[in-house]
Amino acid sequence: MATSAVCPATAIAQGVPVDTIMTTVPQVSTTVVKPKPKVLKGKDVKVVYKVKTKDPVVFITIDDGSTVTESLAKYLDRNKVPVTTFAVSVTLWRHREWFRARKNMTFENHTWNHAHMTLISEAQRKHEVCGASQVARNVAKESPMYFRPPGGSFNKKVIDTVAKCGMKYLVMWNVEADGGVVRMSGRAKLEPGDIILMHYVPSLEKSLVHLMNEIKRAGLRPALLRDYLS
Ligand SMILES: [Zn+2]
Repeated sequence: MATSAVCPATAIAQGVPVDTIMTTVPQVSTTVVKPKPKVLKGKDVKVVYKVKTKDPVVFITIDDGSTVTESLAKYLDRNKVPVTTFAVSVTLWRHREWFRARKNMTFENHTWNHAHMTLISEAQRKHEVCGASQVARNVAKESPMYFRPPGGSFNKKVIDTVAKCGMKYLVMWNVEADGGVVRMSGRAKLEPGDIILMHYVPSLEKSLVHLMNEIKRAGLRPALLRDYLS
């Protein structure tokens, strides 16, 4: 019988002979203090609309996750398009096999079910954000690093929740590229560091083809946010 894992008091109570009980206490230094994992506060969270970089890169971010197709998978894989996905948990889980099969894609936090974050209680906010990180961990085996609020709505309370759920960045966007149109306010070309918002809708593949042409035209290439924002 292995007694080393049994507490001596329990073992004695169970009638195990005293000479077979481990009685030595492992030496533990009292001077070594394990650093506590850092608990993030609202002030630690940065809100980002565009990444500061001189590299010729832009960031394709795709939200929600309701429509995914084999054709889209082929396009992304063939062109090795790096994508930062902000799918809601409900669709990330529903299409988990499709998402898991994508290379060059990271899975970030866009809430559990697209709640309007400034209109719900603290408990609901925590469920929407921390719960979504848990689902992403189940699907992708790693924690989201970024939060994107549905509809772009956030306030200080939302930022506090993002911190409590362990993320340092609230990621917005400065360019939109749905419906085959690239919308940039006040300029005609994409610029390094642009964060581009798209959605998993039926027109996504067509929008991506157009966007990739615009990216090339500006002398840029798409990159993963995680390579620039950590
Ligand atoms: Zn959304």
